[in-house]
Amino acid sequence: MTVRSARQPRLLRQLNERSVLRVLQAEGPCSRAEVTRQMGVTPPTVSKAVAALLRSGLLEEFDAPENGRGRPAKLLRLANQSAQVLGLVIDAAECQLIAAGLDGELKRSTRIRFATPASYEQLVEDVAEHVRRLAGRSDRKSPSGLKTLGLGISMPGLIDHRHQRGLLSPNVPLTNGQSPAADLGQRLGLETVLVQETHALCMAERYYGQARGLDDFAMLDATTGVGLSVFSHGRLLTGHRGLAGEIGHVPVQAAGAVCGCGRVGCLETVASDTAFVRDVSRRLGRAVGLDEILQLASSGQLQPARQLQRACRWLARAVAMVINLLNPATVFVHSRLFELDPGLLGLLIAETERLAMRPSFLDCQVRIARASKLEGAVAGIIQHLTDSRVPAARPLAGIANHQGHFPAGDWNVEREVSETDA
Ligand SMILES: [Zn+2]
Repeated sequence: MTVRSARQPRLLRQLNERSVLRVLQAEGPCSRAEVTRQMGVTPPTVSKAVAALLRSGLLEEFDAPENGRGRPAKLLRLANQSAQVLGLVIDAAECQLIAAGLDGELKRSTRIRFATPASYEQLVEDVAEHVRRLAGRSDRKSPSGLKTLGLGISMPGLIDHRHQRGLLSPNVPLTNGQSPAADLGQRLGLETVLVQETHALCMAERYYGQARGLDDFAMLDATTGVGLSVFSHGRLLTGHRGLAGEIGHVPVQAAGAVCGCGRVGCLETVASDTAFVRDVSRRLGRAVGLDEILQLASSGQLQPARQLQRACRWLARAVAMVINLLNPATVFVHSRLFELDPGLLGLLIAETERLAMRPSFLDCQVRIARASKLEGAVAGIIQHLTDSRVPAARPLAGIANHQGHFPAGDWNVEREVSETDA
């Protein structure tokens, strides 16, 4: 007869801790009894896991609001008042940093925006300085007394997730070959993770946004560049080396503009917010930014309808490619152009219908993404911290494992090319 150790095996303990986190992520604040019920384990098992998570700072316990019947019950939640994480967005023109609760709620008053510096060294320098403002200097307690548990970085371009290194970024080339998570983590003594920006958006929409509970959807980011991220059967498709989703660098215009990647006529040179801004700047004869365009349009000084339609038609091509290739149930489109014209979604859907394979189109909803890149950066570090409770589940820095196959798609290249060249 074998004698069972009195000590709970380490892996089992970690799995229980992760299950507690999953319940609170899915359900919001819960009593211990509710967590126990959801997990289907014994109360002592939950108590042990909860105690470890309270010690780690990931959870906190608070009094439920009075309901007038006896003393208030204690509830558990992902830490929001006692600890925080930070999210950093690196983008072509501007970087942003923000603090958030472990429940993903952004602390909007803490947001810092700063121009993207000209060199990588300066970027690390500037970010470290701003992080210290939000996280405090020595003991990693913020000015408001919160413990900072980690920093998530959203970065565009191709990222080697395994080694947490930027490989090739057409829009922020200063990050090529660099490892900002390692460099900042070392410098700040903070757990730090690097996540590709469209993957991060996808996670944010799934964990905190409109994609909650959706297992098959695509996120098309058409802001600075054009990127794609896909959840299929509940898993993020990463491709062989985690480089999947670079739809923006598929050439679509034979005599188009030169792209940041060095080629000509890439999809992102015509179907992104950046392309629209360039188009409007050309019309006005001076360089304008998207914020200025939004301001001019809302005051009636500018009506960029033609430029908007042009960008939208190209965007529809991107959406049709995604629908034909991947057969998602929903495509979320992340673009600020919808702020300019509420009717733009209708035009996008009508144009997509014209281009996509009909059965796949009829099966798919096209919606405006609500998640932001900041929420993506925050989602990245929260997933990293919660997934790292079980070491075996972190081959891609807390992102889902590889999923080796795409559903069969209809990729009508001949038609795409002939239409484009016409
Ligand atoms: Zn390109």
